[in-house]
Amino acid sequence: MAEETIFSKIIRKEIPSDIVYQDDKVTAFRDISPQAPVHILIVPNKLIPTVDDVTEEDELVLGHLFTVAAKIARDEGIAEDGYRLIVNCRKHGGQEVFHLHMHLLGGRRLGAMVVKK
Ligand code: AMP
Repeated sequence: MAEETIFSKIIRKEIPSDIVYQDDKVTAFRDISPQAPVHILIVPNKLIPTVDDVTEEDELVLGHLFTVAAKIARDEGIAEDGYRLIVNCRKHGGQEVFHLHMHLLGGRRLGAMVVKK
C-alpha cells in the first residue's frame, strides 16, 4: 500500500487549500507556490504515487484529468490563449509529491519546455 501524501489530506479537506473543483474522481486546487498566474494541480482522488504505477483500471480517471483541466482552463479564462499541462514522474521528472498530479499552468506565455541544466 502506497504511503499517503499531503494531497490525500487536501482531497479529504482535512487541511486548508484553495479547491477550485472536486467530484468523485478528481480534486483540483491552486498550487501553494504558483509558477504562473494560473497554476492549479489536478489530482486523482485515488492515491496513485507516480505515472509508473498507473494501470489499465486507472484509464477512466486519468482521462478525466484532461476533461477537468479543459473545464478549469475555460473557467479561469485562459483556454483561448492556451496553457500547459505537466505530469512529473520521479527524480528526473522533478516529482516532489508522490501522489500523481497534473499541473495546469497558464495566464502568461510560458518559457521553454525543458530548462537545460
Ligand atoms: P511536483 O514537483 O510535480 O511533485 O509538484 C508538486 C507541487 O505541489 C509543487 O508545485 C508544490 O508547490 C505543490 N504543493 C506542495 N504542497 C502543496 C499544498 N499543501 N497545497 C498546494 N500545493 C502544494
